[in-house]
Amino acid sequence: MSDKTAIVLGGGVGGVVAASHLRRLLPQEDRIVVIERSGRHVFWPSLLWLMTGTRKVQDVQRDIAALKQPGIDVLKREVTRIDPGTCTVYMGDESLQGDALVVALGAQLAPDRIPGLSEGGHNFYTVEGAAHLYEDLQALREGRVVVLIAGVPFKCPAAPYEAAMLIDHLLRKRGVRDRVELEVWAAEPAPMGVAGPVVSQGVTNLVAEHAIGYHPSRQISKVDAAKGRLHFESGEEVPFDVLAVVPPHVPPAVAQEAGLTAPGGWVEIDRESCETRFENVFAIGDVTGVMLAMGKPLPKAGVFAHAQAEAVAKTIAARWSGKGEEGRFSGNGECFIEMGSGVAGFARGNFYAEPAPEVKMFRTGRHWHVAKVAFEKNWWRSWF
Ligand SMILES: Cc1cc2nc3c(=O)[nH]c(=O)nc-3n(C[C@H](O)[C@H](O)[C@H](O)COP(=O)(O)OP(=O)(O)OC[C@H]3O[C@@H](n4cnc5c(N)ncnc54)[C@H](O)[C@@H]3O)c2cc1C
Repeated sequence: MSDKTAIVLGGGVGGVVAASHLRRLLPQEDRIVVIERSGRHVFWPSLLWLMTGTRKVQDVQRDIAALKQPGIDVLKREVTRIDPGTCTVYMGDESLQGDALVVALGAQLAPDRIPGLSEGGHNFYTVEGAAHLYEDLQALREGRVVVLIAGVPFKCPAAPYEAAMLIDHLLRKRGVRDRVELEVWAAEPAPMGVAGPVVSQGVTNLVAEHAIGYHPSRQISKVDAAKGRLHFESGEEVPFDVLAVVPPHVPPAVAQEAGLTAPGGWVEIDRESCETRFENVFAIGDVTGVMLAMGKPLPKAGVFAHAQAEAVAKTIAARWSGKGEEGRFSGNGECFIEMGSGVAGFARGNFYAEPAPEVKMFRTGRHWHVAKVAFEKNWWRSWF
């Protein structure tokens, strides 16, 4: 009997998978706690379908307390401080000490870093923003829609480009596409650059085939919400009627204050074990920063958070039981690229390959869209 406690900080993609796997692997005497401030679990990829009307708000989220795996304690609390040296988590006046921590707090969205961004645009990286964006897209008869990437890094490198192609499809269905200009203005130099030049060019081509204007390497400096104008550091001014925003992402302050982060601000981990410099304190998913040999960071994506969560759960179980092998995250990942009209692309590869990730893009087709929908269904079946 071990009577130990594993505390999972954050009930997003990584947190839910980590807690569920820990529960399956550890004996009942061991306690597993998930701390999630929002009280809900959101399946973020579905937000692209929420913003284009094929999902409703209730389809994309669940009460975090409704986890399928029994025997997990869920606390709806805000983590306000972490002491990694003693494995202690503070939630305001309350505290909880564990034997292992899994930090899965994600990236914080920081629209307020750009003046006027919150007032002028719809942040479709939130449930509420995606729902409001749909309302505006439905009401639009003519004008200009801009998908704006307001900073790097951002989670899911494909998402803004998928968003633009799905908006294209929605406007075509509504019969107004020929009266609407659609553009992506991006703080990054090219789409999905970490996946290599072939994938990057492939996504650029897909965007062009949908008659979507693409303006890379443009850093937004402010948004004039009243006049509907974007101001870029380059001096360019761009009018818009509907603005779909990927806001700047920043590391959670609580992780920085705990001394878990590297100079870039993201949590520093061993890239295979996902352990921080503190023993038995692990970090997974978007909160981490893993620099690849090619000089770019591992993308922030659910597929990686998921695999890292499985690896960490295996390690904790192996250490506590003294049996079995510890888990290792391989750097393998894949991603669907939604294009609208029931068609999608797919890319898969190893991001830890050296000197550069080896990622292959597959021919687009209906079957990839069907596979993405099946993945969503399976997500809810597996964890809730
Ligand atoms: C529109 C969109 C589409 C996407 N599509 C894909 C896709 O197709 N494929 C893919 O692989 N990835 C996709 N992603 C990215 C993917 O969702 C993220 O990479 C993934 O959710 C990361 O998991 P995580 O556990 O690290 O963080 P999250 O899932 O963001 O979870 C973090 C959790 O921590 C909680 N939290 C934060 N701070 C605190 C605190 N102080 N106290 C308590 N709780 C806290 C948050 O409320 C949140 O629930 C997409 C993302 C978006 C926005």
